[in-house]
Amino acid sequence: MLNKKSVDDINVKGKKVLVRCDFNVPLQEGKITDENRLVAALPTIKKLIADGGKIILCSHLGKPKGEPKPELSLAPVAVRLSELLGQEVKFAADPEVVGPNAKAAVEAMKDGEVILLENTRYRAEETKNGEAFSKDLASLCDVFVNDAFGTAHRAHCSNVGVTQFVDTAVVGYLMQKEIDFLGNAVENPERPFVAILGGAKVSSKISVIENLLDKVDTLIIGGGMTFTFIKAQGESVGASLLEEDYVQYAADMIKKAEEKGVKLLLPVDSVIADKFSNDAEVKVIGREDIPEGWMGLDIGPKTAELYAEAVKSAKTVVWNGPMGCFEMPKFAAGTKAVAEALSETDAVTIIGGGDSAAAVNQLGYGDKMTHISTGGGASLEFLEGKELPGVAAANDL
Ligand code: AMP
Repeated sequence: MLNKKSVDDINVKGKKVLVRCDFNVPLQEGKITDENRLVAALPTIKKLIADGGKIILCSHLGKPKGEPKPELSLAPVAVRLSELLGQEVKFAADPEVVGPNAKAAVEAMKDGEVILLENTRYRAEETKNGEAFSKDLASLCDVFVNDAFGTAHRAHCSNVGVTQFVDTAVVGYLMQKEIDFLGNAVENPERPFVAILGGAKVSSKISVIENLLDKVDTLIIGGGMTFTFIKAQGESVGASLLEEDYVQYAADMIKKAEEKGVKLLLPVDSVIADKFSNDAEVKVIGREDIPEGWMGLDIGPKTAELYAEAVKSAKTVVWNGPMGCFEMPKFAAGTKAVAEALSETDAVTIIGGGDSAAAVNQLGYGDKMTHISTGGGASLEFLEGKELPGVAAANDL
């Protein structure tokens, strides 16, 4: 069980509070095109304002590679955040992030005021967790709050290094929610516990498969990784995505599932296509050999039904990776069927970040899930059973 101190466990009245947020929003010509991440950060910021802290926000944005890049300035974020909060968020525009502007702005702050620092990745030390920048950040504050789950799997100055020089380091509400669902629900699930894994490759999900096989009652496999498993069972997979080097591994996993009494579900039919395109000729085939030149791009309708049925009796479901090439409408049906099944169960439904989160939102089921992770890489590492440096750095309860 991960028990970390949160913003509910501290008193910030009159204190300078540095909050690491995830304001890594998409920008087009200086305009924010998706403000979900800003909206998601509001509960923690509002709580700290209400408690009378002096709030200093920081985040990275894109990859400026250690030097100021005007097109990656957080200035537009300060403008939009001011509107969303209904109070001024003063922007401290220092190219070195912690410079004369930031220091003067912090000095002048009254309780309940908010400022935003410049893009933390303007500093080359940020991604190397260097000491000088960690100390600079810590020098601004009395208390540190980490609410950026998306970078929790990285040890950088603004989420890990800074905590070495601040006595109090806690998590914000967004981070707490990720810990509760991805960490604790997966470690201590209400059963039956079903995991659905899809996406392109077995090789990128090996550690997730191994970790989850020790925990789940049922493991459902879909997406491109299916074909390495199907090959392991002796069938031809045509031109489908296949990782020859992992066929033996897939066979071992099938055996391991059997030994552990985990139900491992593989597709019983597939949607195959004569080319990787939405204009392709398409057929549904059962578990016979896939013809030469054809490729499986989605699970078939019988498989979708089987998977939906398996989800019905679950109490906890974790889903990472689409069932097919859902970006092309012709191959989105399998992913849609699984999303629909999840939206209809009473189980706790947890969606890993990245493509599965995008698929669920794109297909219109976003608000029906218990939790959609805000971090792609970070959520995958949680499911691998790894300790995330950004989480570990916060004080224990
Ligand atoms: P991942 O990042 O590993 O979760 O993979 C997500 C990607 O897997 C998506 O872009 C899907 O289009 C792709 N994908 C899903 N099913 C297949 C498939 N059967 N063949 C090739 N790619 C697939």
